[in-house]
Amino acid sequence: MREVTTTEKAGGSMPDAFSREVGDLGTWIDQLPFVDHHCHAPLRPERIEGDGQAELRSTFTESTDPVTQQRDVPDTLVYRTMIRELARLLGSDATEAAVLAARQMTEPAAYHSQLAKDAGLEASYDDYLFSQADCYPPADWAKLTGLPVRPILRIETQAEQLLTSGVGDWTSFRKAFTDALDASVKSGAIAFKSIAAYRSGLALDQPDDSAVAAALDEAKRSVEQGEHFRLSALPLVAGLVWATFEYAAAASKPMPVQFHVGLGDDDVYLPSSNPALMRPLFREPRFHDVPVVLLHNYPYVRDAAYLANIYSNVYLDLGLTLPLAGYDAVPLIRQALGLAPVTKILASSDGHAMPEFQWFAIHHWRRALTEVLNGAISDGWVDGTNEAVEIAKGVLAGNAQRIYTAQPPAAAKPAG
Ligand SMILES: [Zn+2]
Repeated sequence: MREVTTTEKAGGSMPDAFSREVGDLGTWIDQLPFVDHHCHAPLRPERIEGDGQAELRSTFTESTDPVTQQRDVPDTLVYRTMIRELARLLGSDATEAAVLAARQMTEPAAYHSQLAKDAGLEASYDDYLFSQADCYPPADWAKLTGLPVRPILRIETQAEQLLTSGVGDWTSFRKAFTDALDASVKSGAIAFKSIAAYRSGLALDQPDDSAVAAALDEAKRSVEQGEHFRLSALPLVAGLVWATFEYAAAASKPMPVQFHVGLGDDDVYLPSSNPALMRPLFREPRFHDVPVVLLHNYPYVRDAAYLANIYSNVYLDLGLTLPLAGYDAVPLIRQALGLAPVTKILASSDGHAMPEFQWFAIHHWRRALTEVLNGAISDGWVDGTNEAVEIAKGVLAGNAQRIYTAQPPAAAKPAG
């Protein structure tokens, strides 16, 4: 990160209201806290083989093809840039081999907190049911970095766990599922997350109960026959999503629901992961106050920005897209800023597996946002450094802090 003066570090003074010196903006943006409102705890060290080369490479693609992971990733601009930046931080030569050797010289806890501190990470909201067995649990991750980690409940995985523990009909399953949502909130969950895009696609119209019940029966048969089960039938996924929104909407300040949108691994069929398909959820009057956070969004950034412009409860984020779309970040952020209010754009890393991903994503957000806002000042769309810093504060932390403060539904609180 850049060096700043002691006065700036104290955080007391804002840039001159009349300053048009665009060079100042990067210094300010580098100092702002970053609330990573969607990410995943890193791998525990025993899950990383050798010097970590294979893991580091595969973290920087969503592909599950080993050839892509190991042959192609080193040829991406984002990976090459990440290696150079990491070499600067670790004081090593700017080669992958030198960086891998240097990172092993530090204990995992010190290394994780070094990266978090260097990135200016303030808090992580952890979608913890992703690769749960291989990754640090939220509380352990918090200890590792000394920073707050708040869990996010992945609803499809929660439902799969309930299915394998034996279930009755849709009415009783739905009750068990809602009880699990409630338990997660009481133990600190800050949001729900749906991976419907990976499973059924996002055309999540409200299903009728008989279709959900039939899909649940089919799912139960698969589980009983010992098949590797993935919850993917559209009526069942949609039934769970609608049940989640009903639960979320019942709170005095509704819980946000995050959706994977757009790019991901080959499980995602891009045409059915366009967020515009979620229109029935956006138009449902009962869900009017439930924040819907569209994650990633590549290549549907403009679609997501349009939805954030039209619906008062829709927010968008470019996590994962940044850093993976690396050099394309500036136009993508500009697309978001075209239609979406600045108060509805959030930043996350979607950090996962190796901690370098979260670290690099946060730096990349700061750099790309600085470039976009500098351009906007020059073009007369943002009125100087003060307004740019105010926008950046919201995107990097404040917008998330405003919406992720939900309390459990009043009805779910213990009586008396
Ligand atoms: Zn994620």
